[in-house]
Amino acid sequence: MTMILKIAVPVPLRRLFDYLPPPACDFGRLRCGVRVEVPFGRRRKIGILMAVSEESDIDPGRLKAAWAILDDTPLLTAEDLRLLSWASQYYHHPIGEVVAAALTVLLRKGSAAELADERFLRLVADDLSVAEQACKRAPRQAALIELLRAHPNGVPHSLLKELDWDWRGAADGLIRKGLACWCECPAGQERDDSAFVPPPFQLNADQQHAIESVRGAMGAYAAFLLEGVTGSGKTEVYLQLTQEVLARGKQIMILLPEINLTPQLQARFRSRFSVPVAIFHSGLTETERCRAWLRMQQGEVGILLGTRSAVFTPMKSPGMIILDEEHDTSFKQQDGFRFSARDVAVMRARLLNIPVLLGSATPSLESLFNVSQGRYRHLRLARRAGGAVQPVFRLLDIRGHRLREGLSPALIAYISDTLSRGEQALLFVNRRGFAPTLICHDCGWVARCRRCDANLVVHAGDGRLRCHHCGFEQSLPGVCAGCSSEDLRPLGLGTERVEKALAELFPDARVARIDRDSTRRKGRLEAILNDIRDGRVDILVGTQMLAKGHHFPQVTLVGITDVDAGLYSTDFRSEERTAQLITQVAGRAGREDRMGTVVLQTRHPGHPLLQVLIRDGYSGFAKACSEERRAAHLPPFSYQALWRAEASDAEAPMRFLERVAGLARARSVADLAVLGPVPAPMARRAGRRRYQLLFQSSKRKVLHELIEALLPVISELAEARRVRWSIDVDPVDL
Ligand code: ADP
Ligand code: ZN
Ligand code: ZN
Repeated sequence: MTMILKIAVPVPLRRLFDYLPPPACDFGRLRCGVRVEVPFGRRRKIGILMAVSEESDIDPGRLKAAWAILDDTPLLTAEDLRLLSWASQYYHHPIGEVVAAALTVLLRKGSAAELADERFLRLVADDLSVAEQACKRAPRQAALIELLRAHPNGVPHSLLKELDWDWRGAADGLIRKGLACWCECPAGQERDDSAFVPPPFQLNADQQHAIESVRGAMGAYAAFLLEGVTGSGKTEVYLQLTQEVLARGKQIMILLPEINLTPQLQARFRSRFSVPVAIFHSGLTETERCRAWLRMQQGEVGILLGTRSAVFTPMKSPGMIILDEEHDTSFKQQDGFRFSARDVAVMRARLLNIPVLLGSATPSLESLFNVSQGRYRHLRLARRAGGAVQPVFRLLDIRGHRLREGLSPALIAYISDTLSRGEQALLFVNRRGFAPTLICHDCGWVARCRRCDANLVVHAGDGRLRCHHCGFEQSLPGVCAGCSSEDLRPLGLGTERVEKALAELFPDARVARIDRDSTRRKGRLEAILNDIRDGRVDILVGTQMLAKGHHFPQVTLVGITDVDAGLYSTDFRSEERTAQLITQVAGRAGREDRMGTVVLQTRHPGHPLLQVLIRDGYSGFAKACSEERRAAHLPPFSYQALWRAEASDAEAPMRFLERVAGLARARSVADLAVLGPVPAPMARRAGRRRYQLLFQSSKRKVLHELIEALLPVISELAEARRVRWSIDVDPVDL
């Protein structure tokens, strides 16, 4: 009897590959979920053993033998493999690439799946000025002290090893001087499961009800949507549930949309639990990520905080999954393996038979639909915790008003009043579609990217023009490329220009700006946030980043400079996004005892959805918006899959998608709309032409069966070889 190994090899082919066991193989190690090193063409690949079988479509005499089994015990459990197989089928993505996405880079490359004993280097000196004095003549030791000071709990050995200077000599020197020492675990993280610091307040009735409901569901699959305005105490619910999961000896995974938010939540967990927390996001080194993965997989930690890609991390004893800000689109991967971490988390909970909790102040219409279908249970936190009041909304009709960098006289007056009361104002500038570009005042020439259908964006800070889509950049031109006029002016509204205008309008006010540029340097965001919290800022200007997670308790005025761009866009989800954004930004203000005012500038004060949002809040908006979607047969009342194709040849993507559309239409499937092909919203990017084709149906199954049937044919098309194509199931950016 021949034994055939079915292996998921990380290549873009939609199938498993058959191999014979390696020569002289210990059959006890042939367990599903171990890594296997195999010859693939002329290359070496590392795949995962998915199944062992007696059958192969290929004559066993022609099968190659695998080279080696890399693990003694499986890295992925049977449930993990089931989840990955499901994801591969659901997203129609090659299984080898899906499985690779569940591993870390180091594990993909074959690193040993062992948790080397970690050591931490820590300062022991009581008086650091003495230590600094002692190291004045030793610059490396001084540098190491600097690093250790920034990490009072100790710096892990694995991290020190990644430094590109001789830290070992410096460490030995400090240890000899009695200034530093090695220890087994970071300070304050000695494991003690019983230790949970209770909150300094009583939970309110809504919180208690939410916690009781989820607690009652533990040990089996159940999905919950926790809806609560910003500041209503959702995070407190997460903390209590985490405690509950740990007390049962289980592990919990908590997913967040942004790396920027992990330090805050991490701090809250650290202040309440004395157990170690594993962190997993793209801002870490590969060593750190691999370590977090292994600690979770081996059951060394009970809590994992991570972003999108953490959703596949194996858990030794899974207890629960929480996903915060579930409406956030960054949970959807937008290239390669295009999965939704939210939907994967729900499926994962189902396969593991554990509860999953999705939290948001502004739930997606998809999740609210799932509530209405009885798939998710709805839990609500109706009020702000601790009694803080909701802000008041004011619509400012700016039609016909003279604007100064987008600010109307009325908004300027609001800001002035706020400052005169000694309070803080926050201005939100919607950058989407409004990035400042350069225009010639004489001939109308606009600075455009040569490779994309996009305007170049002015970055006044470093005097450059940049394309936000392909990364092209150049210095600011002195004269117009069309008519050589020197009268080039910035067009559109950017945070930098609003900041400048405010500085001129309010010369005594301290203005701070939060956007990708101003916070690029490590530690900048934290520094600005501290300045705001400590009252060293009067006016805060920022982009989308302001809508996420951060708390600005002393801000009493929120101004939103332009809501129209979001209300009139080609993407059918743009109204939902805009309502979420407005609600999220508004929720940042007046958190404690002071009432906040939210001022919205618009040229469409009568827009029905805007009116509903202001009158009935987000819930009312969601209801009205859902009705519009239902009438238009749009998601969540239908399902979509989007084919994308691009090539440098202008014709090829269109021809390829026309073939796909033709094949689909030829099957005359009931309840299917084939829409397109049409040029993508950005029809040219980095010099490549882009087209898309949409499949839509009110039945998921119809879409999936069709795609399943078409894929083998499409992969063989001559037209397919001339383009780069992909399929996106449940697309979120059309
Ligand atoms: P959310 O995650 O919904 O934004 P948080 O859990 O961060 O809300 O709570 C907001 C603030 O209110 C926090 O400072 C938190 O400590 C506090 N808080 C939470 N629950 C209560 C409560 N029941 N009573 C008083 N304060 C609370
Ligand atoms: Zn470009
Ligand atoms: Zn010109």
